[in-house]
Amino acid sequence: MTDTNNNEATADEIVERNFADRTPEDQEAFLTQTWCNACQAVDLGMVEPKEYELNGVIIVEGKCAKCGEVSLTEVADESTDGEWEDER
Ligand SMILES: [Zn+2]
Repeated sequence: MTDTNNNEATADEIVERNFADRTPEDQEAFLTQTWCNACQAVDLGMVEPKEYELNGVIIVEGKCAKCGEVSLTEVADESTDGEWEDER
């Protein structure tokens, strides 16, 4: 076992992102506009949000505020929605 070079063991590329970098409005929307597979209900809310990129897809992950099941939200490509004012 060596832990100096284990890149090949990782099939999926995960890039951590910072959910807290989103605007308060964005965060609010993610935390309230949810779908829970376990509860089969919308807008129950979620807690403990995390954001990361998996193979080029941005995902916000949290836990259902009601039942605690993990809920994943895929975020639409932010470069195509035209709402970003300070692109470099
Ligand atoms: Zn739930």
